[in-house]
Amino acid sequence: MARIAFIGVGNMGGPMARNLMKAQHAVTAWDPVEAALADIVEAGATQAASAAAAVKGAEAVVTMVPAGAEVRDVYLGAGEVLDAVKPGTLLIDCSTIDVATARDVAAAAADRGLEMVDAPVSGGTGGAIAGTLTFMVGGPDAAFGKAKPILEHMGARIVHCGPAGNGQAAKVCNNMMLAVSMLGVCEGFTLADNLGLDRQTLFDVVANSSGQSWAVTSYCPVPGPVPASPANNGFQPGFTADMMVKDLRLARDAAMKSGTGTPMGALAEALMALHVAGGNGPRDFSSIIETIRAGG
Ligand code: NAD
Repeated sequence: MARIAFIGVGNMGGPMARNLMKAQHAVTAWDPVEAALADIVEAGATQAASAAAAVKGAEAVVTMVPAGAEVRDVYLGAGEVLDAVKPGTLLIDCSTIDVATARDVAAAAADRGLEMVDAPVSGGTGGAIAGTLTFMVGGPDAAFGKAKPILEHMGARIVHCGPAGNGQAAKVCNNMMLAVSMLGVCEGFTLADNLGLDRQTLFDVVANSSGQSWAVTSYCPVPGPVPASPANNGFQPGFTADMMVKDLRLARDAAMKSGTGTPMGALAEALMALHVAGGNGPRDFSSIIETIRAGG
């Protein structure tokens, strides 16, 4: 049993922290949103009064906050985590953020003699609850070796992607591919509706054909074929459209910095931003099917 500080216990961090407790780890949690913190405390975590207080005496710190600005704030800014941890504490950031911030924070940790990995995830809230997430990990071999047994309590696949920042690089490529494929799936189901083709029939064909993808078989954007998909509950997230726009911006930033042409990613970002401008930011990103339908 280890003492683990968990910072950011929202849609993803909450169930991830629960899985650490199920594995008999002692979790101390901090989140500025009272309801999120109360939820995890009710599940057995110790409540901390700040990020710095949460990490005092911890053997490992896991962070799961929205974006790079919050990660910088938690570790280097007001959160004071790098100054508050004891020597030898392992730092694991699971948030999806830009590669440059991940590398900056890891370098600041290394300057203080601390080991850190970036370990963004794929698998959504369903994977977080089930403990079946995929972790894409960037960082030195030794830090990866220490992080792996902790991550295994929250995920089914733990992939070492290379040095600091490479986990984020893998994540940004994955999510750009997800957005592009989801848009294709939404167009396909909209076209099927307009051609009088039954949705379940299209699903049955595509799920076993070359149009198959995770967006179809795990996250189908029409109600019915995949009962657990957000389309069945009014597009409650899940993974919000706001978060997807954030990730597509990270992808664009990475593409520009590396001189990579990603026209499909750029189009996905424009369509998703239009959807968010229509007031859909807090809804699941697969609700983009409504904007696609409205455009027809
Ligand atoms: P969320 O908004 O539900 O949770 C984030 C939590 O961080 C919130 O409870 C918020 O109060 C807290 N927070 C914000 N600033 C903080 C700070 N300075 N200190 C401590 N806590 C702070 O978001 P989420 O859906 O859980 O996503 C978290 C991260 O995981 C994001 O980077 C997201 O891109 C990534 N992600 C999400 C999903 C998904 O399906 N939701 C899937 C993969 C990756």
